[in-house]
Amino acid sequence: MRIDIISIFPQFFDCLDVSLMGKARGSGILQTHIWDLRDWTQDVHRTVDRAPAGGGAGMVMKPDVWGKAIDQVIDQAGAAKTVLAIPTPSGIPLTQRQVRDLAENAEHLVVACGRYEGIDQRVSQYYQQQPGVAVLPFSLGDYVLNGGEVAAVALIEATCRLLDGFVGNPGSLVEESYELSGLLEYPAYTQPATWRDLEIPPVLLSGDHQKVKDWRRQQSLMLTAARRPDLIWDLAPDALEKSDREILAAHGFLPAPYSRQVRFRRAQPGEAATCSAIASRLFPQACPDYLPEDAIARFVAEELSEQAFKAYLADPGTLIILAEVAPGEKNKEETSWETAGYTLINAGAPGFLPPEENLVQAAGENCAYLSKCYLDQRWRSSGLAGAMLEVSHAQLQALFPHITKIGLGTNQANRRALKFYRHHGYRKCGRRTFMVGGIENQDLIAVRDFTARQVPSWAQNVAQ
Ligand code: SAM
Repeated sequence: MRIDIISIFPQFFDCLDVSLMGKARGSGILQTHIWDLRDWTQDVHRTVDRAPAGGGAGMVMKPDVWGKAIDQVIDQAGAAKTVLAIPTPSGIPLTQRQVRDLAENAEHLVVACGRYEGIDQRVSQYYQQQPGVAVLPFSLGDYVLNGGEVAAVALIEATCRLLDGFVGNPGSLVEESYELSGLLEYPAYTQPATWRDLEIPPVLLSGDHQKVKDWRRQQSLMLTAARRPDLIWDLAPDALEKSDREILAAHGFLPAPYSRQVRFRRAQPGEAATCSAIASRLFPQACPDYLPEDAIARFVAEELSEQAFKAYLADPGTLIILAEVAPGEKNKEETSWETAGYTLINAGAPGFLPPEENLVQAAGENCAYLSKCYLDQRWRSSGLAGAMLEVSHAQLQALFPHITKIGLGTNQANRRALKFYRHHGYRKCGRRTFMVGGIENQDLIAVRDFTARQVPSWAQNVAQ
């Protein structure tokens, strides 16, 4: 690749002789030419700027001087296609995608480094109209530098390190921030294992490659969610696994194709009506086909009434977590969040557990009961169900540290639910009969042991 840099401070680019850039220049991967713009002036003062047309502070760089310089370097390079990069704070923010495109496709790059108030607009306008020239006005970020030189170095270094043969191990480029995954890179650590009382996360020293890979993926997702939510909204739907979606949901995001914000919170004592409404709406969605409507309606009226939820909310051993979805990715209006699902867990004395479920015998004293876990089917496959379940587990443990297990009963014909709970560490340990409006249903009982399968760290401290 040939790069021509034009600036009134050519000495600025001595830095390109350093490190890998210097090596690449020496090896012929890269041909760089650095030009002093003043060499194209004709007056004794070597003037490159004039007062702005229309008045105002500062000076503007003259188009006639720039035109001569750019024409000459384009002619000299003789490339079929030139990219004329013009650093400017009003340019398009520079991205990895853009520099990769340059590295893969540009044969000749000219960087025109402005100073003062910038370069007369007609320079950009003129070259946009020239065949064989593409103009790239780019910005390093939302701040103002004194000149385009720093931006030029950034553009050149980011582009050139992607050229074939530039780095020794091209594999090191693939996992980086903004690359294939579209996420920020996970944090890196090295020896010593303990430094100033800070440890390397133990998983990185475990030697278990799959666990290391999973941990890094999780860190990337959480870091991106915290620092660059814009990148999360831009992710392609097929870039995410179910487990990725669960982590992102726990951190407030249902990425495309859902494109919604989500949050989790503990239901408050005054919210019995809200809880009853969502429970009554979601229960019929989860019922097997054979259950008649009137039986479902009876169950809803008896078990999911406002009165029933008043009692749950008044019980210190009962925990209700609501999952709420915002109307759109940008909308943060408090009032318009919609309840998408909920869990209800009883962590009270084991005697409270329905005796016919035999959960106490099956699971032991410190077993909580996941009485309800429902999500609106609109959000199926969004990761929200898994996130809601793990966030509820985490809340349960935070509020009731003595709890080591949690059990549930679910209809034995509900394969989808059984698979979901198995995936989340629940293991079958019994059966029960569950009545819905006077009709018997056969349930399987399953228990998750938190000592065997810990609540994931991504689900901790999430619910408000
Ligand atoms: N008056 C200009 C404005 O407010 O947009 C700022 C001019 S700045 C002082 C001078 C030169 O620095 C620009 O022409 C451009 O080459 C460079 N520059 C400043 N900030 C930049 C940024 N964020 N990205 C790229 N180039 C920048």
